[in-house]
Amino acid sequence: VHSSLPRCGRLLSTSSRCRTVMPAWVIDKYGSNEVLRFTKNASFPIINYPNEVIVKVFAAGLNPIDVAMRGGYGAATLSMKRDPLNIKQSGSEFPLVLGRDVSGVIMECGLDVKYFRERDEVWAAIPPWKQGSLAEFVVLSANEVSHKPKCLSHIEAAAIPYVATTAWSALVNTGGLRKDNCANKRILILGGSGGVGTFAVQMVKAWGAHVTVTCSQNAERFLRGLGADHVVDYTAGPVEEPLSALEKFDLILDNVGGDTERWALKLLKPWSGSKYVTLVTPFMQNTDRLGVADGMMQTAATVASKALKHLMKGVHYRWGFFAPSGSALDEIRDMVDAKQIRPVVEETFSFSHVPQAFEKVEKGHARGKTVVQIS
Ligand code: NDP
Repeated sequence: VHSSLPRCGRLLSTSSRCRTVMPAWVIDKYGSNEVLRFTKNASFPIINYPNEVIVKVFAAGLNPIDVAMRGGYGAATLSMKRDPLNIKQSGSEFPLVLGRDVSGVIMECGLDVKYFRERDEVWAAIPPWKQGSLAEFVVLSANEVSHKPKCLSHIEAAAIPYVATTAWSALVNTGGLRKDNCANKRILILGGSGGVGTFAVQMVKAWGAHVTVTCSQNAERFLRGLGADHVVDYTAGPVEEPLSALEKFDLILDNVGGDTERWALKLLKPWSGSKYVTLVTPFMQNTDRLGVADGMMQTAATVASKALKHLMKGVHYRWGFFAPSGSALDEIRDMVDAKQIRPVVEETFSFSHVPQAFEKVEKGHARGKTVVQIS
């Protein structure tokens, strides 16, 4: 009902500016970097629900999922989320705006928004089924948004939300970690040097855990600087050998995937509630390949059988997922303001160089985050 209202309809505050177009980088089909197209005529976001806000984007962070989505990753799953009743034709997601992190300023609030006002400085992680932040403006639910840390620039702030809410979801919601239960816990982070890893190391270190990471040899100093207590170089040979020689772990966060599941769960303390949480799951591939219903069945069957197999050996096997959360970002902001976590911006690109920013992310070997300055 609301979506048919004009932008200047009754759900909007009186300050609606009634613009209809804005600059953005969009894709009109899935493919490699050449599908990225700059336009000055992207549709201006619309407040469809009274709990939504329009944010003027100052900086946008890129993530590996942006490169994957450019190539069609998650198309079936995300289309279902965008259009659950399957009313629209296939391809209706185009022109699609990528970019999952935003730091900016609230430009407009729906009438039910109480916690934010126009001109508030905010940050957010944008769910992949919504239009992204490689645009001048983006519309979000107020519960996905949080006031940004005052001590950070917009560029720095845009390096945090997506990886932070993913790490929060995996470590807190799935892994059961909290600031008051980490002291003396031994945590292993497989793949410490990228976006999620650099955030996760700082978070669990701030909560008092002992942190071991795996990374390339050339990232060792960098990760020790972020708080890692022990670093294992995966380029020197199979990591399972040096890791097996260490005291066992209470929790493993896997940012690498591949064959790690074959050996990593043996590194956990058995029968003590220890958990292996992997962020590299076949969930989207299953639904893209098999369709939503069969894909979900396949996913449920896979995770249930693995969880049961490992439970019989006394350890917990879990899949972790990104979850948008303004309240998690509120807690993360407090940690940033308390100087417990710092942003790790590896490289910044101007809005005219978005394709180069994608190339950078696609090359891999991240040491923190790639951020685009929008305005
Ligand atoms: P990045 O690309 O930012 O970082 C990956 C890092 O891993 C790089 O620093 C890379 O550096 C390092 N690396 C590569 N191979 C290994 C290895 N064998 N051992 C140790 N380190 C390695 O990715 P993100 O941090 O953003 O994401 C991490 C993973 O989590 C990705 O697979 C991503 O798709 C997934 N993810 C899943 C989400 C979900 O909802 N399930 C949400 C967010 C992320 P180098 O190659 O130089 O060693």
